[in-house]
Amino acid sequence: MSGLGKLRVAVIGAGAAGLCAARHLLSRPDTFAPPVVYELSKNIGGTWVYEERVGYHDNGLPIHSSMYRDLRTNIPKEVMSFPDFPFANHLPSFVHHTEVRKYLKQYCDHFRLWDHIQFGTSVASVTPLDVKGGWNGLAWNVNSNNGVDHSKSTTERFDAVMVCNGHFYDPYIPAIPGLEKFKGTLMHSHDYRTAEPLAGKSVVLLGAGLSGLDIAMELSNVEAQVILSHGQQPLASPLPPGVQQAPPVTSVLDDGTLEFKNGERTKPEVFLFCTGYNFTFPFLDKKVGVKVQEHLVWPLYKFLIPPAYPSLFIVGICRAICPFPHFHIQSQFILSVLDGSFRLPSREEMEKDIELDITARCSRGIATRHILKLDSEQWAYNDELARLGGFKPLPRYWSNLYESNKVFRARDMLNYKSYSYTVLDNMEWKVHDLHGQQ
Ligand code: FAD
Repeated sequence: MSGLGKLRVAVIGAGAAGLCAARHLLSRPDTFAPPVVYELSKNIGGTWVYEERVGYHDNGLPIHSSMYRDLRTNIPKEVMSFPDFPFANHLPSFVHHTEVRKYLKQYCDHFRLWDHIQFGTSVASVTPLDVKGGWNGLAWNVNSNNGVDHSKSTTERFDAVMVCNGHFYDPYIPAIPGLEKFKGTLMHSHDYRTAEPLAGKSVVLLGAGLSGLDIAMELSNVEAQVILSHGQQPLASPLPPGVQQAPPVTSVLDDGTLEFKNGERTKPEVFLFCTGYNFTFPFLDKKVGVKVQEHLVWPLYKFLIPPAYPSLFIVGICRAICPFPHFHIQSQFILSVLDGSFRLPSREEMEKDIELDITARCSRGIATRHILKLDSEQWAYNDELARLGGFKPLPRYWSNLYESNKVFRARDMLNYKSYSYTVLDNMEWKVHDLHGQQ
């Protein structure tokens, strides 16, 4: 505890999750000292800070953002926002990424977050300490580096740590036998910025997630010939011109030809991986015991808390979710744990809960790598955290509007972003298509 008996919390990262964590900590000056937000870059916004270049910054740090130049959001602003801070009214439902960055800056202004962020400061280690009188007998040393060449090292002690370092920056490339024999351009969506360099080329794009679909459409606009290779059911939506579907690529032959699961072959100029990202927590002390295995981060109670170290919180690792409201709910739940309004179960009970949850998911046929994909279950998860923490759940229309957008997208990936939504009250909303018809 700090001298005044208030809890000191470190927040790692000033992306949307870290900003949301800071906003809630600052709203409770009765219990929490102002947080320290560590941010390795010079900006807030994380993913939403578009970088034209790929690879590394001049200071040797890897480029964090995976934004591409023309990206517009895939979630309408009416449900993408933090519930306590709407996007500006005049904006369309699906905004360009620059508007999201602006929005996050406005969020910082409104909730007066700027003074609490230490820019250019990267967290190097987070180490638990046994401390009599600390929160739950625990405290944390957070060691960080800053200065021009990151050579100035500082260690500070905290009662709790919220890890908000993001998980869309370390490209995941699946192990495909013979991949090293591919002779064309091999790239990951992390390094994709614009379609122009791929104009007119033959491209095999692996992965039909949101980025994969978006990029396939961009490539179609520059007359690339795209084979969208994926392991899902064939997509129901009409595809853009020049894009066709294929099963997953299973191997690369000696002459660089790609072979698909159905035995068909092709030799494209570009092999583009839209295959997602790895989780990494390089600063986390091994003894905390948080492991990453097949895209599952565990053991974490409620996908947040390692039972052996319940004053550490790993925020925002769930996938296929509506991120900003999810951070809003998780942050409030964490505060309810720390201020004691929600009493955590014992370590053993939390471990049992995690085991039962994972077993139940596996017995429903969910592969380990998909366990963190909450998808439509996110709403029950959010409601449960709000109930346990004793705070306001999301408004009733939220889930319904979000899920409807998913249906529209699956039906027509080419046009769903031309829809415009209006929220009428806590339960009701309406949608207009491009021509203003309901
Ligand atoms: P990030 O935004 O990645 O922020 C993490 C921050 O932590 C960064 O600023 C980083 O510099 C900092 N950091 C990392 N390590 C350290 C360290 N050791 N020390 C100090 N600081 C550190 N979401 C939507 O809601 N709608 C969309 O339309 C949408 N589109 C997307 C499109 C793309 C291409 C991608 C990649 C993601 C998209 N998302 C979208 C998801 C988006 O990532 C989340 O909305 C959200 O911005 C993630 O926030 P975050 O704070 O968890 O992570």
